[in-house]
Amino acid sequence: MNEKERILEIYRILDENSPANITFLDKKDPFQFLISVILSAQCTDKMVNLVTNELFLKYPTAHDLSVADYNEVCDIIKRTGFYRNKARNIIECSKALDGKDVPSEIDELIKLPGVGRKTANCVIGDIYNRGAVIVDTHFKRVVNRLEIVNEKDPTKIEMLIRSKLEDKYLYRFSMTANLHGRNICHARKPECDKCLLFKLCPFGDGDNQEETK
Ligand code: SF4
Repeated sequence: MNEKERILEIYRILDENSPANITFLDKKDPFQFLISVILSAQCTDKMVNLVTNELFLKYPTAHDLSVADYNEVCDIIKRTGFYRNKARNIIECSKALDGKDVPSEIDELIKLPGVGRKTANCVIGDIYNRGAVIVDTHFKRVVNRLEIVNEKDPTKIEMLIRSKLEDKYLYRFSMTANLHGRNICHARKPECDKCLLFKLCPFGDGDNQEETK
């Protein structure tokens, strides 16, 4: 099996053994989804879902949030961490999007306040159903352990994955590999004995199972 076949086989196994629809944030309209992803930095998805229920009840649209009181927004989103920066970013982002659609191109998305490549890729994959590589801590760990990449920089990982897999597989691979990292390939003590990728994984030989982030 050559490297291309190995990666496709990893994709296939993850695809076949993962739920059809993988979402971590509650499904909302494009604007609300974008704001939820901005809030998810350094925060659990569960907490983001709790906080956004309250936030969007009060400020459901870009216009509502664009004219929101900064301190009130801080109070609502406090539990997501880094809340002052996040409040500033989501208000500024809302001003930029007031009366407009959420952009459908990464280059446009990353011009918005608080939006980096990871957030932009989430929107491209989840909202626009196009090839997206979402490099979070789980994805980074899994693709490095599987030696699909040997790289720590998220942008370089994204570009490498884009060069190794067809566009149509990218978003599904991002989500299934992410879920695999959460459920099996933990940072500490990956459950290699339960892992369906064991035979395809250079890391899972039993000698290397220390923490890898
Ligand atoms: S074999 Fe172990 S290290 Fe490799 S992907 Fe599976 S759980 Fe992760």
